[in-house]
Amino acid sequence: MSVEILTFGCRLNTYESEVMRGHAAALDDTVIVNTCAVTAEAERQARQAIRRAARERPGARIVVTGCAAQIAPDRWASLPGVAGVLGNAEKLRAETWASLPAAPDSVGDIMDPAAEMPAPAPVSSFAGRARAFVQVQQGCDHRCTFCVIPYGRGRSRSVEAAAVIAQGRSLLARGYRELVLTGVDIASYGRDDAGFGTIGSLARQVLAALPDLARLRLSSLDPAAIDDEFWALLAEEPRLMPHLHLSVQAGSDLILKRMKRRHSRAQALAVIARARALRPEIGIGADLIAGFPTESEALFQETLDFVREAAIPYLHVFPYSARPDTPAARMPAIPMAERRARAARLREAGLAAAAGFHAALVGRRIALLHETEGRGHSEHFAPVRLAGPPPAEGAILAARILRADAHTLFAEAC
Ligand code: SF4
Repeated sequence: MSVEILTFGCRLNTYESEVMRGHAAALDDTVIVNTCAVTAEAERQARQAIRRAARERPGARIVVTGCAAQIAPDRWASLPGVAGVLGNAEKLRAETWASLPAAPDSVGDIMDPAAEMPAPAPVSSFAGRARAFVQVQQGCDHRCTFCVIPYGRGRSRSVEAAAVIAQGRSLLARGYRELVLTGVDIASYGRDDAGFGTIGSLARQVLAALPDLARLRLSSLDPAAIDDEFWALLAEEPRLMPHLHLSVQAGSDLILKRMKRRHSRAQALAVIARARALRPEIGIGADLIAGFPTESEALFQETLDFVREAAIPYLHVFPYSARPDTPAARMPAIPMAERRARAARLREAGLAAAAGFHAALVGRRIALLHETEGRGHSEHFAPVRLAGPPPAEGAILAARILRADAHTLFAEAC
């Protein structure tokens, strides 16, 4: 039996799982669980997966890594069937996997400013995916009151443009037509090394160096830190996809303040308005937390009104999840049932916005990246279902929107 990788959480974890797949290829009968610590639910799912692996593959060596393992290694090491726990830096080193049988546990102090984080190893493919992720940044220097990510990934570090371009070039050579620049807080790109520039200038360099790259996308951006180079590129470069996903978190200034976010409601609205002015067809997405401690019904209403006013079609909504040792976890909590109910109301508002956004695309021509079984995403990142025989996975084709609902665009090739 070979190596099985179970990945939880963000695109960066997906990228790193492919790095580990390469490093651990020589191992046998191993299950790697790449955990996420963003919510209690993500940790619960990882524990469940570990128990299932221990039950279904009793002979397998289970290795746990990722942010939850980095933050609380002992808690994961004590689970039945777990042979080893690796930190987020250690999991990216080839030598860790070479020496694994002998040294299963290795979790370094990632918060140590001097701690070295290996440069991302090249990845040649993404199992079962039509778009490829390219890591450009790691870690975070901010301290939002609800978040544990900095404790799982350490300080912000940027990847040199030459390495990003080389990774992009090799993925293009493998047939990928769309690349997604990803990290933890990519808007902080270059802040750790002035010579690196900004996320906007990096995107421009990638597109200039890879003229055959059809589509470039960026993962989530901090609305407080979008640079002018990015705006200029968005205005003039059609290969930069008209899709902006923002880490907004709330639409209430008081809650944003208690979250220690760096933007206000008005600034987030201004960012969305600027994006739409530059690319009217742009698809907007946002991360939102429902039921943050101290959020009264009136403060929640401000976030709901924000979603409606900005008409944001693509929402990632999380009921607030208390994380150990974070300032927010010490604030007066909202009952979980109420958090979930508020999350449902936000999602409903997002669906209403998506219905409007999709309806406006009916009759229009789009460029569809076909992923699998006739499904894919448009340049705006709208989900699309294609009529007729599906083209090759990863193909980009022109399609016309025949009809739409809040969830999907229904199209035919044209
Ligand atoms: S910006 Fe805030 S929410 Fe995002 S990773 Fe950093 S601390 Fe967490």
